[in-house]
Amino acid sequence: MKQNQFSFEITTKIPDALGRAGIIHTPHGDIHTPAFVVVGTYAKVRFLPSSKFHRINAQAMISNGFHLSKFADEIEKAGGLSKYSLYNCPTITDSGGFQVMSFGSGLGKVVSMDKRNIAREQFKTENKKRLARVSEEGVYFKTKDTDPEKLFTPEYSMKFQHKIGADIIMSFDELTNIGDSREYNEEALNRTYRWAERCLDEHQKLTHERIDKPYQGLYAVLQGAHYQDLREKAARDLGAMNFDGYGLGGAFEKEHLSDILFWCNRILPESKPRHLLGLSKPDDIFVGVENGCDTFDCVAPTREARHGKIYTPDGDINLRNAKFADDPSPLFEGCQCPTCKSNYSREEIRKLLKNNGGLKTAKQIEEDKQLAMELLTTHNVYFIIKLTQQIRQSIHDQNFFNFRDKWLKRYYS
Ligand SMILES: [Zn+2]
Repeated sequence: MKQNQFSFEITTKIPDALGRAGIIHTPHGDIHTPAFVVVGTYAKVRFLPSSKFHRINAQAMISNGFHLSKFADEIEKAGGLSKYSLYNCPTITDSGGFQVMSFGSGLGKVVSMDKRNIAREQFKTENKKRLARVSEEGVYFKTKDTDPEKLFTPEYSMKFQHKIGADIIMSFDELTNIGDSREYNEEALNRTYRWAERCLDEHQKLTHERIDKPYQGLYAVLQGAHYQDLREKAARDLGAMNFDGYGLGGAFEKEHLSDILFWCNRILPESKPRHLLGLSKPDDIFVGVENGCDTFDCVAPTREARHGKIYTPDGDINLRNAKFADDPSPLFEGCQCPTCKSNYSREEIRKLLKNNGGLKTAKQIEEDKQLAMELLTTHNVYFIIKLTQQIRQSIHDQNFFNFRDKWLKRYYS
């Protein structure tokens, strides 16, 4: 029996919906769900120092398996991703599949808001040289055209994810392109199933070999684009296997999100946690929670912060806008994040961001910019985490739908 087994308990359910609040127990601590998992691509969230991680109530971090695979030995020596990151929290890695396929076969694999985006993505796909190709064995890829081709397999993904030692790891799946045909999606889904079987075998073997290491929960990733029968097939096939949880992925238009999650989650075993991959705009989080997702991740809160976009309960604002040049108020009045509590005003942060605070050296300009990034990142990540905390509370209070309607009306009006 492995130390600190991985488990999930549901504490409250949303009546007449698939949503629930619960706790994921991992060897590195509990994750109270619904939860936002911060994105630390290279084992660290950009502009979020470890001293602030717990102050914004962050619970867990997801990292990019492909990028970290090069440092897997180093991370293992340091005692695993939780320690290595200095956040000392539960951690997740993805399989590396998204990254490796982005070198070619999977260009433009995005969840798109509208058809124009899709057309753009297809254009990009057709005009960029493909450096990856999918085979039954795995994905052949090269990072540069001049490099020799390498093979990335489900077994390799399991090996480096075991070394990295995150509490939750993902099976290697084929993410299809938003422009792919139904036939191709069907073929890819069947291949993803066979890869999931290989991942599970390898995971069980490695778990047995590494009995002294903390247990790692393996999630299978469901694909099937926006096709109901394919999504249901994925949920039935993978749901019947001995995975510890499930990742909901894929490229599809945003309007299909709630249907897709409903189709998958009503079939998947209720007792296992589900992670919605890469989506966490506030409306996505509400749709995800209602339809049975427990954890969420997305780079948007940090990426948008770096561009000066600030989240507030009354909607997003862009701090670069001239109207904030003489605004002495905090990013949001009443916000309890470390930035707003430290009395930095919109005006001051805007100055740091725009480097127009008078005569400054290049070094000072850079330092100011870094500080602005940290202040804004802290606020935005806190905002999304706070939202998931409030949603969790509303589920416990049996008030989810009321809370949702009021919150969304204020934010989007
Ligand atoms: Zn704030």
